[in-house]
Amino acid sequence: MPKHITEADLALLAFAREVRPRAYAPYSGFRVGAAVFAGGEIFQGVNAENAAYGSTVCAERAAALAAITAGHRDFDAVAVIGDSESPCVPCGACRQFLAEFNPAMRVIMSGRTDEIDVRRLDELLPDAFVRGYLDQDDGEDE
Ligand SMILES: [Zn+2]
Repeated sequence: MPKHITEADLALLAFAREVRPRAYAPYSGFRVGAAVFAGGEIFQGVNAENAAYGSTVCAERAAALAAITAGHRDFDAVAVIGDSESPCVPCGACRQFLAEFNPAMRVIMSGRTDEIDVRRLDELLPDAFVRGYLDQDDGEDE
């Protein structure tokens, strides 16, 4: 295995792989599993499609919502595994959603093969719009 991939990465990826068969993807057939590591706990999620396509929820956001629901606000890592030939990357909306909970989190990605890619979220989404922007007071509204 590549040097930069840790045992913890592989363990988290195993949780994403385990849950992937439960994805609800009758339209695309593209099943995705995800697992978020936060506060020493693991939270799993799958993608859930909808007849109104725009209502579909990605696996990464489903896992993130489980972690948030449990009270976590700072994620260490997210693993995602999809039906793709190459490692499955989070979509743009998920990158933005996850950045709220730690722009520097590890992102462990895999697909149908044994190939694994690990990146920092801020590599996948440079210059994310994060909380700090909302705290900037230019005095215009006073
Ligand atoms: Zn997504």
